[in-house]
Amino acid sequence: MSLTAEQQAEIARSRSETRETRRVVAEGLEARLYEAVPVLDHGFVRVIDYMGDDAAIVQAARVSYGQGTKAARDDAGLIRYLMRHWHSTPFEMCEIKLHVKLPVFVARQWIRHRTANVNEYSARYSILDREFYIPAPENLAAQSTVNNQGRGAVLEGAEAAEVLRILKEDSTRAYDHYEAMLAQDDQQGLARELARMNLPANIYTQWYWKIDLHNLMHFLRLRADAHAQYEIRVYAEAICELVKAWVPAAYAAFEDYRLGAVQFSGPGMACLRRMLAGETVTQETSGMSKGEWREFEAALKG
Ligand SMILES: Cc1cc2nc3c(=O)[nH]c(=O)nc-3n(C[C@H](O)[C@H](O)[C@H](O)COP(=O)(O)OP(=O)(O)OC[C@H]3O[C@@H](n4cnc5c(N)ncnc54)[C@H](O)[C@@H]3O)c2cc1C
Repeated sequence: MSLTAEQQAEIARSRSETRETRRVVAEGLEARLYEAVPVLDHGFVRVIDYMGDDAAIVQAARVSYGQGTKAARDDAGLIRYLMRHWHSTPFEMCEIKLHVKLPVFVARQWIRHRTANVNEYSARYSILDREFYIPAPENLAAQSTVNNQGRGAVLEGAEAAEVLRILKEDSTRAYDHYEAMLAQDDQQGLARELARMNLPANIYTQWYWKIDLHNLMHFLRLRADAHAQYEIRVYAEAICELVKAWVPAAYAAFEDYRLGAVQFSGPGMACLRRMLAGETVTQETSGMSKGEWREFEAALKG
């Protein structure tokens, strides 16, 4: 992770200050506030601010439930009930603001989640740092042969070395040219907003990202999933740990009913019932396509 001495000092200063407040605080997240959690080679995620805790979810839900239901008297039980039944608005009462440093190609996937508020570092105004994501050798995967959006075995030996050489060389050359085009002592220089256009998608950017817990869990369900690209998944996994510290009961329910859950289609459920009744069902007799059947089998195997 690349944090300058100045940035580290600022984080240390923020972490050393405490204030009295009447607001609810989530002790688990309070302990992690401002701290940068390293992700990939130069990236990080850190919590800048948050609102609410598990109790805030329960409090909001009880407004709509009046005195609450008999079956879900305790807070964790009510949270699990809400999660199971897709009663999502109480989770929107909690908010979190993150500072994220991430490669541009990861940011492109991330920004598709439209329900957050974002403010990105301006490369029109500032000069980007010479920081590029170069995958660790164990993450240099070949193209998958069964999934056009997936990875196969890890590249090895000379092929891996050559890929790393190309990545490093291209990043260095592009940044050298970026610098050469910018204003220097002896030249007027190209505007920053234009000079950046030759930079590759593995350069790092940064943003502040604020989102409510319901929409954050939607993001995490998609991006912490095994099918998500590794480079965004590691960010999602880091955020999962923060959410666990922030709202432990909601996170446990999320793990059980979203992250660890699978969804079966109508035909899938019909096959499952036939299998439970002792019938041997194959792809040919399932009524499902090969792709659907492969996913169905994978869901059963876990
Ligand atoms: C494994 C994977 C592969 C992907 N591959 C591709 C790809 O090849 N190409 C590509 O372009 N994208 C791809 N995506 C992105 C994907 O299509 C979604 O854009 C992204 O996951 C954001 O999902 P979302 O719209 O549900 O999330 P959000 O934008 O966070 O929205 C959350 C929810 O709010 C609601 N919502 C938000 N905005 C609107 C709106 N304007 N209208 C109606 N409802 C709204 C919807 O219910 C939505 O589910 C991929 C995503 C994943 C996880």
